[in-house]
Amino acid sequence: MRFKAKRFYRSKNDFQDLYFGLKQISCPHCKYIGTLIMHGYLRGYDEKNYGKRIIRGRRIFCSNRFKKSGCGKTFSVFKSNIIKGFNITADSLWKFLKNISNGINKFKSFKDIALSFSNTTIYRLYKRFKYQQTNIRTALSRIHLKSKTCSNKNPVVQTILHLKLAFNHLPCPISAYQIHFQKAFL
Ligand SMILES: [Zn+2]
Repeated sequence: MRFKAKRFYRSKNDFQDLYFGLKQISCPHCKYIGTLIMHGYLRGYDEKNYGKRIIRGRRIFCSNRFKKSGCGKTFSVFKSNIIKGFNITADSLWKFLKNISNGINKFKSFKDIALSFSNTTIYRLYKRFKYQQTNIRTALSRIHLKSKTCSNKNPVVQTILHLKLAFNHLPCPISAYQIHFQKAFL
């Protein structure tokens, strides 16, 4: 049996499943099975404390060593609470977006989550979300049709409300999105 490689994992158990199932997963680059091995950690900085290093995920290597027939390329798997390209966690990003959907402007919305990010970073984060909206909505509409409750004039708010409704029963819709679709939110 051939399985596609996961890109996001939720918990330690989830990661263990991935780890023990590696031999049955095909490489996303060359599609070979049985060549994947763990290849170290992806580290980054804690969103609240830049002096603290955290593990963001793992790198997986398609081995071409010791006569293995892999392609020698690597790919990454991330914890579901990680936002690619940013130090912010999915939980904090969700709080930020929820504030925006309540009509609060982006800088005030961010201030409320008490993270010391620069205005440039906040702007970059918001811009990235705006840019990704079409992809996010397309993905969401596959699992949850947009309802009347999403009919806000502002398309950004519409997307946030749609996300909230699609993963209504879960504490962080952004982590849930990454796990469900196995792709990065931003
Ligand atoms: Zn490969």
